[in-house]
Order: sequence, then C-alpha cells, then structure tokens
Amino acid sequence: MADIRTTKKLSNGLEIPVLGLGVWRVENEDDLRTSCKAALDEGYWHIDTAAVYGNEDMVGRAVADYGNRKELFLTTKLWNADHANAEAAFEKSLKNLQTDYVDLYLIHWPAPKNGKFVQAWKSMVEIYKSGRAKAIGVSNFHKHHIEKIADATGVVPHMNQVERHPLYQQNKLAAYCAETGIALTAYSPLGSGHMGDITPRIQPIANKHGKTVAQVILRWHFQGGWILIPKSIKPQRVAENAKIFDFELDDADMAAMAAIDSGIKYLPDPDEANF
Ligand code: NDP
Repeated sequence: MADIRTTKKLSNGLEIPVLGLGVWRVENEDDLRTSCKAALDEGYWHIDTAAVYGNEDMVGRAVADYGNRKELFLTTKLWNADHANAEAAFEKSLKNLQTDYVDLYLIHWPAPKNGKFVQAWKSMVEIYKSGRAKAIGVSNFHKHHIEKIADATGVVPHMNQVERHPLYQQNKLAAYCAETGIALTAYSPLGSGHMGDITPRIQPIANKHGKTVAQVILRWHFQGGWILIPKSIKPQRVAENAKIFDFELDDADMAAMAAIDSGIKYLPDPDEANF
C-alpha cells in the first residue's frame, strides 16, 4: 500500500518521493515557514523550489529549523539568465539552501530564444558528475529540446518537470518520456489557482469516494505515475493534499478524468515564453 513515504526510482536508481511541496509565489517568509512546517509535520520530505522564486534562502532556514537535511529531498532549478553561468548559479543555490548538495537540479526553462540550453545542460552534467546533484533534469522541455541536449552530450535527463493538470494532461510527452526512461513531475497539479474551472466535473468523483476535489486530482496524478508537487500556504490544505494514499480511483473514474483533457494550459508554451 502506497503512503507518504512512497518513492519512484529514477533512471540512475535515485528514489524520489512521489509527493512534494511546491513553493512558487511564496515570497513572504512567515507563509513559507508555515507551509514548510505543516508539510514536514505531515510527513512530506520533498520540497520543490527554484532560484527565480527568490525563496531558496527561506527554504534553507525552514529546513534548518524544522527538518533534517539528510532525510529530505530538495529540488531546485537553474534560471534562464544563468544558462551560461550554471556553476556559479548552482553554488549560490547551495549556499541559499544551506546545503552542499541537492537531490535534483533542473534547467527551469529551455528559453530557446537565448540559445544556451545545450551549454547549460553540459554544465549540469558536470555538476552531476561532481556528486553535488544526485540527479539532474529539465523542466518545460518539449521532446525536441530533450533530443537536442541528449544528442549533444549523450546524457538523457533523469526528470522532466512540466505543467500537468486535468485540463492539460500531456499524454504525448508522457509516452515519449516513458520510452526514454525520463520520469515526470506534474507542476501546477491543481491548475495553479484555477481549480474552480474543473471542480464541477470532478465533484461527483470526490463525493463517491468521500474525498475532496483536490485529493481526487492529486490521486489521479499519482495513479498515472507522475510525481506531484502541490503548493499551499494553508496548513489544513497541506495536510489534505497528502491524504491521497487511502483510496483508489477505479477505471470509470480514470476514464472520466481522461475525458476532461482539453489542451488548456496556464503557463506559456516553452517555445514562446519571452522570459
Ligand atoms: P498548484 O496547482 O499547486 O495550485 C496551487 C493553488 O491551489 C494555490 O492557489 C493554493 O492556494 C491552491 N490550493 C492548494 N491546495 C488546495 C486544496 N487542497 N484545495 C483548494 N485549493 C488548494 O499550483 P502551482 O502553480 O503553485 O504549482 C505547484 C508547484 O509546482 C509550484 O509551487 C512550483 O514548485 C512548481 N511549479 C514549477 C514550474 C516550472 O516552471 N517548473 C511552474 C509552476 C509551478 P493556497 O496556497 O492559498 O492554499
């Protein structure tokens, strides 16, 4: 039976916790501490941050105060402006997080207009070889971006972290990543503040199981084999989002969730993003 300690094995053998806490847009330190403390108390042991969130230092302090670094899985990300400067940016992230390694380091966006993501990937590979990142990967990468970095280095990312929620299910990318051994993390798993758009369609499934709509959505990600990193600054929601291991969606539920897919996404297309 799965529980909050459940992990998924990456292609290099590293075990990643299936549930993590997202901290994007948590810029107030009290909120960040409340969120992290609630998560760690609940049994989460995976936190997803990024240099550009401006809160790595707050995460570092919260971990020092409430957690045990060695028992935690920390993910952070290289920002677009630092693609040519990854080593220095990585060292800054380590310093902010008060650690000498991260569990997973990701290129945040390919930012193809900058033309430097292959260079960034070469630096990530060096960082991985040095042991300071236990796994490396990408985020917001389409198949063609992944092929470009793999062709240039012979190194396939361990992870691709992408937008995924019931309205944007990413089945094509998931099939490609399954073929190539790349694990997937669903970011904005609840629709990044737009959960109301899909609540009426999911409420009947939630009622059937005596669960909330958020729990049904998160359980659906989990049953699909995705890592999920919901964000909340409210302790009761942090707890709610972890209580997804004591029920199962059946085939009819999964089919109903599949039918919601509509290609609607909330973040920009990685090839078009102008940041
Ligand atoms: P989520 O899909 O996790 O949704 C967060 C929103 O849902 C917040 O408004 C939160 O409000 C609300 N919420 C959380 N739990 C519940 C609940 N149980 N019931 C009702 N509402 C709820 O959005 P994010 O965009 O934050 O994505 C999660 C994480 O993914 C980020 O924090 C970040 O770590 C990562 N991410 C990565 C990106 C990338 O480019 N790699 C891009 C975007 C996100 P409240 O806090 O008030 O509870």
